[in-house]
Amino acid sequence: ITLLAIESSCDETSAAVIRDGKVLANLIANQKIHEQYGGVVPELASRAHMQNIVPVVDLALKQAGVEKNELQAIAFTQSPGLIGSLLVGASFAKALAVALNIPLIAVHHMKAHVLANCIDEPRPSFPFLCLTVSGGHTQIVLCKDYLDMEIIGQTIDDAAGEAFDKTAKLLGLPYPGGPLIDRYAQQGNPHRFHFPRPQVPGYDYSFSGLKTAILYFLREQSAEDASFIEKNLPDICASVQQTIIDILMQKLIKAAEDTGIREVCIAGGVSANKGLRKRLLEEAEKRGWHAYIPDFQYCTDNAGMIGFMAYHQYLAGAFTDLRVTPSARGDWKMAES
Ligand code: ATP
Ligand code: MG
Ligand code: FE
Repeated sequence: ITLLAIESSCDETSAAVIRDGKVLANLIANQKIHEQYGGVVPELASRAHMQNIVPVVDLALKQAGVEKNELQAIAFTQSPGLIGSLLVGASFAKALAVALNIPLIAVHHMKAHVLANCIDEPRPSFPFLCLTVSGGHTQIVLCKDYLDMEIIGQTIDDAAGEAFDKTAKLLGLPYPGGPLIDRYAQQGNPHRFHFPRPQVPGYDYSFSGLKTAILYFLREQSAEDASFIEKNLPDICASVQQTIIDILMQKLIKAAEDTGIREVCIAGGVSANKGLRKRLLEEAEKRGWHAYIPDFQYCTDNAGMIGFMAYHQYLAGAFTDLRVTPSARGDWKMAES
């Protein structure tokens, strides 16, 4: 089975070619345009997708050495995401599916993030737990099979990626700030400053209180010493990162203990964080887990993971018809086996 996958849910235009569950090419065009605005501007993202999509698809096919007429299905991210961005990918995928007279597969972006763990060796065995930490979501997912997943906990307000990005903004760092905090944190003392850990029931998360605490902390310190941030940037970054990681791991550990599951994965953009990756491996060692982290290219938004999920939908016959429309919020139950 050879299929083409399109991902356009946010600000990455990505195309991938997948053959029998193996990723032959995974091309990602980042949109630099948003940097100057300190966040993704939806209208600009849609326009950039329109400019990028044809060249990105062409290049992915070329890199994979696959002709359009060899394709057996077209997959695209149906939800969740920015509606204008999703529309570009969905419209392109529909048009190509009609032109080539091949089936269309609608993929749930957050489920694809989870399955990114199964693309390469070593692969987790079912059932596994996945902490999905991205720009818009923070979820603990119980994954029972490729097309059978359940959200057992999630954030009630901000996502972990947002906590990184909003902290970075307060520190005067450019968007997206997550990777920069990660970098500064490596030279800082994670125990220098202390921030509150929220009390949320079950496996749910909350990050909005942390953002407020950091805002007040920086305001207070900067009032005393105007160059406080400048002088302490690595320690601030390390301490904030440590707090976010502690919050994330506490619930993941609880979920693993309660379910008895020892196959534990992380996914999404924040799973690229060096501190989180290290901590996951330490906890795994301590608790006898098998821990998994996707290859870097499959952590942030990419069509490779969309195509991998689509391959399993193909095998299950989970196709969609041309009336399908993208959805900003998404339907977790769609295309379940
Ligand atoms: P969603 O998947 O929820 O729709 P998204 O697709 O925009 O959101 P991703 O592209 O998966 O999210 O991840 C982007 C987020 O990951 C941003 O918030 C970014 O700051 C964060 N991020 C990326 N690398 C790192 C890192 N090394 N450390 C911390 N955060 C990071
Ligand atoms: Mg993104
Ligand atoms: Fe994503």
